[in-house]
Amino acid sequence: MARYTDSVCKQCRREGMKLFLKGERCLGPKCAIEKRAYAPGMHGQKTQFRQRQSDYGMQLREKQRARHIYGVLERQFRRYFEIALKQRGQTGANLLTILESRMDNLVYRLGYADSRPQARSLVTQGHFLVNGRRMDIPSALLKPGDVITVHESSKQNGHFKGLAEVLEQRETVNWLSLNPQTLTGTVLALPTREQIDVPIQEQLIVEYYSR
Ligand code: SF4
Repeated sequence: MARYTDSVCKQCRREGMKLFLKGERCLGPKCAIEKRAYAPGMHGQKTQFRQRQSDYGMQLREKQRARHIYGVLERQFRRYFEIALKQRGQTGANLLTILESRMDNLVYRLGYADSRPQARSLVTQGHFLVNGRRMDIPSALLKPGDVITVHESSKQNGHFKGLAEVLEQRETVNWLSLNPQTLTGTVLALPTREQIDVPIQEQLIVEYYSR
């Protein structure tokens, strides 16, 4: 399966904003965008001073930002858009709700991982069960009532050992519930646009695909 393999920090620099793809590092002085706040590449420093973007340019950038935040390739992103288009309500908000219901995003939202890329990797390594069955597909879309647990054999491994104490100190988003002691999370509902804190103007994405 195709995957993005270049430095994820370049994605932040290209989009001109922090996409929080590296967990703790994103919050400290080592964050690449703090040190080099311009686009990557030979002409990157000129790019940041470029005059106003065209409407198409803004729509494209917004779509790319959303793709990079959730770690989704173009073809799949487009598929999500088509699903969102067929649903009732606002297409842009529907699209974000679909992205939030991905397995890797839920693992991140529950606090099992510091970033979505790390969550994706934990999922593919097979550390989780959904409703009692092993789930190692990061793109799987979950629904209200689904229960995500950490596999018994994983609870004592390096990443999950001691995680319960850390999770007890954190707040979980209100559309998920988490029992830190048993490392069990439940999808209470899918989030509305107001409950999704990503800095994306989804209307621009709708305009991009409606050209
Ligand atoms: Fe982006 Fe995080 Fe890298 Fe900073 S450290 S550039 S926020 S991925």
